[in-house]
Amino acid sequence: MIDSKLFYHQAVALAAAGEDLYQRGWVPATSGNFSCRLDADSAIVTASGKHKGRLSPTDFIAVDLNAQPISSGKPSAETALHTQLYARFPEIGAVLHCHSPAATVLSMAMAGKSLLKLSDYELLKAFTGIDTHATSVTIPIFANTQEIDSLAAKADSYLAEHPNCPGYLIRGHGVYCWGSDLDTCLRKLEALDFLLQCELEQLRLSR
Ligand SMILES: [Zn+2]
Repeated sequence: MIDSKLFYHQAVALAAAGEDLYQRGWVPATSGNFSCRLDADSAIVTASGKHKGRLSPTDFIAVDLNAQPISSGKPSAETALHTQLYARFPEIGAVLHCHSPAATVLSMAMAGKSLLKLSDYELLKAFTGIDTHATSVTIPIFANTQEIDSLAAKADSYLAEHPNCPGYLIRGHGVYCWGSDLDTCLRKLEALDFLLQCELEQLRLSR
């Protein structure tokens, strides 16, 4: 039984987040997808092909953690990447996926590398469990594919080994980030994208 009040509340919050992320240029041309957990076994996710800066509460679909719809409509093609995270981490409440220029370009500029190490940045403290800049956080980069189930399986096996990983990149595609609730997820995404922009700038300066 879907909690329709919670569904509506989450949908309104995700639509507002979408407006903000669209203004930043991180979800151009209907790209990206967003979700929030409903309960232990379900989440709401953006419907396929919607403009992410102009979402309404009817643009969301409830899905189970096998990425199958449990309300009417067609969920995002990348739903399985969201539900993999909810299934892997019972404590997370929101997942955001964006196609920001920094995530897209940096993952391509790092061709042949499957890990991005972020070290010594003050903003690393935005990630859960980190209280000093004198540390490093590793972000995996997965190859892009249209085989979403196989990508979800790859992400799942990496995250099983690295449960504190705050997000991942898909090469030439974008970034996935998650958090205990939507505000936490937005804060982590903002920090992660800032750090990606810094890495990109450093790469430019070193060439
Ligand atoms: Zn995408």
